[in-house]
Amino acid sequence: MATARPHLLGLTRPELAALAVEWGFARVHAASLWNELYLQGRRTPSDFVVHDQLPARYLDRVFSELAFDFPGVARETHSADGFTRKYLLALHDAHRIETVLMRYSGRVTACVSSQVGCAMGCVFCATGQMGYTRHLTAAEIVAQALHVDAVLRETTPATADAPAPALADPAHPSPHHRHERLRNIVFMGMGEPLHNYDAVMQAIDILRDGAGLALGAKKISVSTVGVVPGIRRLTAERRPVHLAVSLHGATQAERAALVPAARKWPLDELMDACRDYTSTLGRRIFFEWTLIDGKNDGPDHAHAVGALLKDIPAQVNVIPLNPTFGYAGEPTRPAGARAFQDVLATYGIPCTVRQRRGIDIAAGCGQLAIAE
Ligand code: SAH
Ligand code: SF4
Repeated sequence: MATARPHLLGLTRPELAALAVEWGFARVHAASLWNELYLQGRRTPSDFVVHDQLPARYLDRVFSELAFDFPGVARETHSADGFTRKYLLALHDAHRIETVLMRYSGRVTACVSSQVGCAMGCVFCATGQMGYTRHLTAAEIVAQALHVDAVLRETTPATADAPAPALADPAHPSPHHRHERLRNIVFMGMGEPLHNYDAVMQAIDILRDGAGLALGAKKISVSTVGVVPGIRRLTAERRPVHLAVSLHGATQAERAALVPAARKWPLDELMDACRDYTSTLGRRIFFEWTLIDGKNDGPDHAHAVGALLKDIPAQVNVIPLNPTFGYAGEPTRPAGARAFQDVLATYGIPCTVRQRRGIDIAAGCGQLAIAE
């Protein structure tokens, strides 16, 4: 995607309408364009169908002022589990990112990247092991969701239960979604989303738009390594997303050994920010814990987590370590994960063990990395 001009996919619907007015066109033209883009799935300028509300001279102006392209699919891999597909996407500057499509319990989730690489350096994470290259733009994040949407258009039949989204312009109704819809987005791909706050939030505003992909607020999860200023901003701005915090250690020393970012944002500051988030917004936080055999998976660790979280509305998701080239640890075995869960239950903290999926195609948590 070219970056010199603003990108069509990086604009919210009100921003697109304001531009139309600035250029001397009616707002309804922008609404029609939005509909074509997000509901009809147009992918190139020539795909757009000219009609009364979408005149050719407006489209000409749009495509001369705004960039509009999609990352190319450099590689596609399907897991033998039948539920997971991974896409290697090539950006305009030849950098590559990965996006994962997951279909669990009948719902489609897109796991999207927020950066090329990651600056946070968690020792067990393949993305962290590759270092940081750059932030993604809002357009590049939206394009990942639209890529998954396009795959669903090609591969799934109509579903009777797929409701039509609210319409931009009731005078010009659009057909209902005729394919399976993308229901969930998790920012758990490559990168630290709260290190790229503005682009991530702009993309979320676009993805949530009721006249577009219409993702519900409860269907978007932002997972952070614990970027305290980002959590504080989310709280102040009352952003309607689920928050997941990757914990991995329940003392400052143990956490910092796995998550170097903890040196910058110590555990006590992180917990203060989490408490403010839950009390201000009345929402719970999902805490993620990668279970590493003999490292952070014993009963003592589980009790420390229980003590740390007992006064916070929390749910813990444990993820047995997925293998990466740069880290020698082993995953906790299922019995160990269950024992961890049982200890947390004594503190009244719900704990789920994340199913390991897509490991055969390195699409599991923390396995996304691109050899460049
Ligand atoms: N940067 C964000 C989101 C991307 S990572 C974050 O760290 O939260 C998504 C999740 O995968 C995080 O909880 C992370 O701790 C976890 N993860 C990273 N490497 C992993 C690995 N090798 N095995 C299992 N989980 C891993
Ligand atoms: Fe970055 Fe998250 Fe990986 Fe840590 S776990 S290096 S924050 S992507």
